[in-house]
Amino acid sequence: MRLDGRRESTNVEDRRSGGGMSGGGKASLGIGGMIIVALLTWVMGGNPLEVLQGGVGGGEADDASPQKEYVQSEEEAALFSFTKKVFASTEDVWTELFKAEGLEYTQPKMVIYRNSTRSGCGQASSSTGPFYCPADQTVYIDLSFFDEMERSLGAGGDFAYAYVIAHEVGHHVQYLLGNIERVNRETARLGKKEGNRLSVRLELQADYLAGVWANHENERWKSLQDGDLEEAINAASQVGDDRLQKAAGGSVVPDAFTHGTSAQRMRWLKRGYQSGKLRGGDTFSVPYDEL
Ligand SMILES: [Zn+2]
Repeated sequence: MRLDGRRESTNVEDRRSGGGMSGGGKASLGIGGMIIVALLTWVMGGNPLEVLQGGVGGGEADDASPQKEYVQSEEEAALFSFTKKVFASTEDVWTELFKAEGLEYTQPKMVIYRNSTRSGCGQASSSTGPFYCPADQTVYIDLSFFDEMERSLGAGGDFAYAYVIAHEVGHHVQYLLGNIERVNRETARLGKKEGNRLSVRLELQADYLAGVWANHENERWKSLQDGDLEEAINAASQVGDDRLQKAAGGSVVPDAFTHGTSAQRMRWLKRGYQSGKLRGGDTFSVPYDEL
């Protein structure tokens, strides 16, 4: 992905200094377990609200701990800049697409943190994976997740990471359109299985919206390079519920899906990329078996 000379978003807060989780009891999961948890939560946790309310936390005292100077490596600095540029692109693209519909796009915020931080949806930790919190309209990302994508999922590449960012921003778009509230309302009166199905619809729509963004990103800046789209599609495939359930050593349980299968995630991402239309991804009226 070519991003030379592109602007960085000013809606990004860097919380990587201090506020670590050292001293907390949560680091005990170990790196292997941590990776699995991160992946499973991002992909299977379903509604980001639920994930966080479920008590991911534990490091309550974080904000009170003395600030430690965090010195980023060159690689991390590049990844940070990349993330801010992609986020800026989503601002530009969605502002324009909303405008075309006579709507106003309220820009979300992004918090880059390490290990753990406080969010409007409860305590966030790197084991939560990237998520969007509707309560404070903020995307939370621990940049180490991108390394984990590459190392443990075989889903590396800059455009794979851009897809993750765009997926989370897709949730913000859904929030502004009222879809998240609608799903939460309906989920509250549905059983687990039906609730999971609604979650799948919501998540596939976020994948679709990520594709819509990718379309306009490339249209406007001609930024995609050979293999970029494939990186994103591969990432969407690697984080399918079926694949992750298998990777976690379990059997595939469709009723427990919350994000959709590999095939579905790839399909909606591609669909969004091909159409480029804000309104073309109605995952809610398609029969569930045809998603
Ligand atoms: Zn999601």
